[in-house]
Amino acid sequence: MSAQSIPVSVHACAKTFADGTRALDPIDLQIEAGETIALLGPSGCGKTTLLRLIAGLEVPDPGGRILYDGEDVTRLAIERRNVGMVFQSYALFPNMTVRENVAYGLKVRRTAAREVRRRVDHMLEMMHIDELGHRRVDQLSGGQRQRVALARAIAVRPRVLLLDEPLTALDALLRERLRGEINGLLRGLGITAIYVTHDRSEAMALGDRIVVMNRGRIAQVGAPRDIYHRPASAFVADFAGTVNRLPAHLLAHCADARDAERASLPPGEPSGPSDFLFRPEDADIVPREDAHFIARVHASSFLGDRTRLMLEGVGDELLVIDCRPRHSLEIGAEIPIRIRPESLMRVPTEKKNLAA
Ligand code: ATP
Repeated sequence: MSAQSIPVSVHACAKTFADGTRALDPIDLQIEAGETIALLGPSGCGKTTLLRLIAGLEVPDPGGRILYDGEDVTRLAIERRNVGMVFQSYALFPNMTVRENVAYGLKVRRTAAREVRRRVDHMLEMMHIDELGHRRVDQLSGGQRQRVALARAIAVRPRVLLLDEPLTALDALLRERLRGEINGLLRGLGITAIYVTHDRSEAMALGDRIVVMNRGRIAQVGAPRDIYHRPASAFVADFAGTVNRLPAHLLAHCADARDAERASLPPGEPSGPSDFLFRPEDADIVPREDAHFIARVHASSFLGDRTRLMLEGVGDELLVIDCRPRHSLEIGAEIPIRIRPESLMRVPTEKKNLAA
């Protein structure tokens, strides 16, 4: 089954709620046909509000416009936009069977009975729930319910699929499995999809591009690798994964770090006080003469595939470094560390205001 895929444009969409809460500053976003966009950010940053504007569940402040395939749908109600939605809370009809739930949107659209049967069969098969067709939804597990919710959303062949934290209620293993399946499904259908999450690995795994949001604004839009390796700010770097921060002057004596400093300024950033950022996997324990600095082991955790060290004595904050699991290091041991210069990221110094 192939869905029509359309581009979606968000133009200058701000949202102020009736009580005066400003959930979004004016936002511009262009979503390509068939693209999966992950909206990522901490609680309260406005992800759901943006999704609801795109869905037609909220209207933007005056001046804002939403276009579906070039057509202005800003004031068109959700029922008339032909979107599919999947929520964290399933939003299924609990006392209907799985088949009845999946068929619901098709019946509302007065689809012929034979076609309803055919499409429901197809959806149940696609979501691996064909054995469950006659079960009532309140007799299903959380993972099975979310499969039904996805089947129901996709059955109507929506122009846009909107997913609001669909996996949050599930346990870690199931989340990972369903995440993989959703990925396959979105790629297979080629449908334009917008996926809200506060889980960075979900955003990385699913998004063709990630939109990182902070306090009602877009902090950065980019492919997952860019967000991870070329963050525009310390906020984005932190939200994309564990990151260490060092004031640039602490590495000023290292020639290769100075080269990295010149090379890795985010585009358009004026020069000024800056910090170096690097990921835990981008530092090595080396012979003393090759070290950028010597740090002391504050804590060490064996994580199976690696050992994670918390190091002190360099800068004001603990540094987090991953090393091979066979390294066994005493608390207090002094270890020489070298950062891979090509992995250094440089961002303007800012007050620590992170998405803990
Ligand atoms: P979460 O991950 O916790 O769901 P979010 O990023 O999706 O957060 P939103 O739900 O979009 O955030 O909320 C953005 C801001 O708007 C928050 O400060 C929230 O309290 C506020 N807000 C959301 N809905 C309303 C409403 N109907 N009336 C007033 N304020 C609202």
